[in-house]
Amino acid sequence: MSSARGYDGPGGMARPTILVVEDEAPLLTLLRYNLEKQGFRVEEATDGQEALMKVAEARPDLVLLDWMLPSLSGIEVCRQIRRRPATRDLPIIMVTARTEDQDTVRALDMGADDYITKPFAVEALLARIRALLRRSGTVPSKGTLTFHDLVMDQDAHRVTRNGRTLHLGPTEYRLLEFFMTHPGRVFSREQLLDAVWGRDIHVEPRTVDVHIRRLRKAVNGEGEPDIIRTVRSAGYALDLEQG
Ligand code: CA
Repeated sequence: MSSARGYDGPGGMARPTILVVEDEAPLLTLLRYNLEKQGFRVEEATDGQEALMKVAEARPDLVLLDWMLPSLSGIEVCRQIRRRPATRDLPIIMVTARTEDQDTVRALDMGADDYITKPFAVEALLARIRALLRRSGTVPSKGTLTFHDLVMDQDAHRVTRNGRTLHLGPTEYRLLEFFMTHPGRVFSREQLLDAVWGRDIHVEPRTVDVHIRRLRKAVNGEGEPDIIRTVRSAGYALDLEQG
């Protein structure tokens, strides 16, 4: 959603640790930079033996494992990690330069949970890492918010009212998400700007009115009661009582 806010995961939990096993120094540097920027802790290994040692020393939350490694191939590292009871269920993403289906099938057969083919976009890799961490329970699923007939699925970024899917712009989505976590409370335009746009961004308070108008239009269907209450000289609230 907002890349400036970075990794929006575990709220109060320790940062997930990712062991990056990669022998190409520039790629390792790039991965470390991007993962740390997203709030992960990063451990490194540059060959297969070192990877197995690091995993045994301190179990990471996820291993990003290059296939082509000196001394011990990624596939062999994967096999050995799976053979040890302590790391049998350790999430592994295999990084492969091979594009043949047979090889990716083999990676999954050897126990990798997912794979990505070089060259890859960092965003695609981050999405896989987050998905796998959620699946393994390291990062809790964000879940669902409800307010009367409104349902927001925060993982799928999907909002419905009365079962009908709503089409919201990113700002309207964040506004509604904020309202749904504080139903009934009245917020001033300044408070909404701080919470939804962030303190560092200069936006005119009137901008809030524009997005509230768009949000109302998207959320209130024909004949449905308005769920956003305008409180004169105070601000707005998510509320079904008209005022
Ligand atoms: Ca390599």
